[in-house]
Amino acid sequence: MSTNTGSIPVTRVEASRRGAIDFDALPFGRIWSDHMFVASCQDGMWTDGELRPYGPLGLRPAARALQYGLSVFEGFKAQKTPDGDVAVFRPESNWRRLNTSAARLAMPAVPHDLFFDALVELIDVDRVWMPEPHQGSLYIRPTFFCVDDDLMVEPGSGFQFVIMTAPVGPYFGGELGLVTTRRYVRAFPGGTGDIKPCGNYAGTLLATREAQEAGYQNVIWLDGIEKRYVEECGVMNVMFVIDGTAVTPPLEGTILPGITRDSAIVLLADLGIPCEERRISVEELVLSSRDGTLTEAFGLGTAASVAPIHRLGLDGVDVRLEEFEGSVADRLKTALLAIQRGEVEDRHGWLRRL
Ligand SMILES: *Cc1c(COP(=O)(O)O)cnc(C)c1O
Repeated sequence: MSTNTGSIPVTRVEASRRGAIDFDALPFGRIWSDHMFVASCQDGMWTDGELRPYGPLGLRPAARALQYGLSVFEGFKAQKTPDGDVAVFRPESNWRRLNTSAARLAMPAVPHDLFFDALVELIDVDRVWMPEPHQGSLYIRPTFFCVDDDLMVEPGSGFQFVIMTAPVGPYFGGELGLVTTRRYVRAFPGGTGDIKPCGNYAGTLLATREAQEAGYQNVIWLDGIEKRYVEECGVMNVMFVIDGTAVTPPLEGTILPGITRDSAIVLLADLGIPCEERRISVEELVLSSRDGTLTEAFGLGTAASVAPIHRLGLDGVDVRLEEFEGSVADRLKTALLAIQRGEVEDRHGWLRRL
């Protein structure tokens, strides 16, 4: 059935899959809502796009997205608020970052109105897929990639832009142990560590597997030059609490400018907790764990929000960290979730309510 809700044509699913899903036990990113948004761009001209059932795209095998990784993505969340609105957290920042990523791969920009009209309509058409506040949130995954199917290593001319959404449960961390690696680097100056191209992730998987074989869950990425300074953990930004001050590596071109990281820095100021953006060496972490001043480490990202780290493997030195009540991670997470859920005043203008 083809209908027209707002301005975007909709081809609806014949039968929704929603009824078969237990929303009280949602996994992360394995269940996709009924519909997706798809638009194309050819030589800089955009088609308006459409909503259609989530499913195969008809990509050709020679597509540059597949051959050369000409593909970028974003990830952000929407929550249902106590008054029943849908609140999307900082989507303007994700739209901007998507286009920063695209520009770095010589791709065109996704127009603001196309992105937001699609987002609003997609969430509306799939509103039965929006979890209740206690069940979780809606994860939103825009993806933008080149479909040209010649073998030229050149900027593309034909692109597709897709948005899909997934209802996701609350994040239950479990034990999080991270270990440094000297064999692999995630990013290096002049590379693409500060954007979200698909190619950044494939190169981390073997390192992650080896970290897991060593009894940890993921990798602490060090700088690519000296392998001395901590940059990120897994696919999250990282923050430590040393002597009561929250410290996080500065954005100097090799670190992904996380929106959770940015929000955390603002909220720490609100909470009156000192915060510094500066380089943190592995030696400093080892020394501050020995003298007891290193009290916390946590990851920051959309999926896990604030994820306490329980164990650090620092070039052979194993450091254990206990979670405790009133920790910086706890206070930060509480403050962030309260804003994201629309439970407190949105003082920084971060929510877009639909
Ligand atoms: C997406 C991502 C993050 C987190 O960014 P958010 O905007 O907070 O979700 C951190 N590090 C890497 C490598 C990422 O890809």
